Parts: sequence; structure tokens; C-alpha cells
Amino acid sequence: MPKLTGNCLCGNVSFKADGDIMMQGNCHCLDCQQVTGAAYATLVFMSENDVKITGETKKFEHKVDSGNSLTKDFCPNCGSQMFGANLGRPGSIALRAGSINEKAEIKPQFNVYASRKLDCVILDNNIPAFDKMPG
Ligand SMILES: [Zn+2]
Ligand SMILES: [Zn+2]
Repeated sequence: MPKLTGNCLCGNVSFKADGDIMMQGNCHCLDCQQVTGAAYATLVFMSENDVKITGETKKFEHKVDSGNSLTKDFCPNCGSQMFGANLGRPGSIALRAGSINEKAEIKPQFNVYASRKLDCVILDNNIPAFDKMPG
């Protein structure tokens, strides 16, 4: 049985993911706010090889401050954000917590870009918060 499963709002895009979660955390950067339409993104990183994707996504590529190019895959039918990747760090893929069915697996380990967080968002003091992206 796959560890994580999920799908977009319309169901055209789905995934099954096996293997261990590499890391997971909340990102409060403006890019994540804009692309999700939410206050922040909860990203679940897994090895690309462990994630099997079914259905067609559309890819948006953009550059960030570090000079790296990031990609965002979304369902062209319903617009749900499905996967993110950093072309400067190949091999890992970021799933979006909201599309994952196994909600009990969502346990963010950190907050990044805490300097950009909305005033209405209260950070969990039990996990580290970084003003930007560490290291
Ligand atoms: Zn869809
Ligand atoms: Zn972000």
C-alpha cells in the first residue's frame, strides 16, 4: 500500500507515493502565498523516484532570488497546485499537504520565510522558524 495518495480537485491528476518523507515544512514566502492563494504552503518533500503521477499536469517555471529555477505543476482542468520542484536540486519533489489524503502524515518540521508570514498566522513554537530559507 502506498504511504501517501492524493489527487487534484477534479481528479484528473493523482499520485501514489512510497518511501519515506524526506522533510516537510511550511513556507510563508510570497511566491507560495500567490501560487496557493493561501496564507502559506505546507510542502512535503519526497524522492522523485518514490512518487508515481497519473494524469497530465501543466508546468510553470520561474526564477527565485537564489538564481534557481522552480517549477510548479498544476492540473490544467481544475487549477489545483500539485507538485513543486527545484531544478537546482534535482531528485526531490514537493507534494502539497492539501492534496494528500493521509492527513495524519502531515507534521511540518519547520517554518521558512517566517519574515513574510501574515500577521494572522500563529507559528508553532515547538518547531524552528527561519526568517528566510536556511543555508
Ligand atoms: Zn484537476
Ligand atoms: Zn515558498
